[in-house]
Amino acid sequence: MSTSDCPGCAAPLVTITINVGAGERTLCSCAKCDRRWWQVEGRLTTLDGVIHELGQPEAPRLRYRR
Ligand SMILES: [Zn+2]
Repeated sequence: MSTSDCPGCAAPLVTITINVGAGERTLCSCAKCDRRWWQVEGRLTTLDGVIHELGQPEAPRLRYRR
């Protein structure tokens, strides 16, 4: 579980991990072929799915405020 290579062109990937309300999301991007996708708990997911989660009004982080 260290650095991964682009499945398209085998170049090293740039990964950025962010924490959203629902958990950690890792953005993987390839500088060579300019692909981007997300990993959720080690699984690939679509960009649309993560953006949908970010926009969820009932994200757990909103409930932290008391
Ligand atoms: Zn690539």
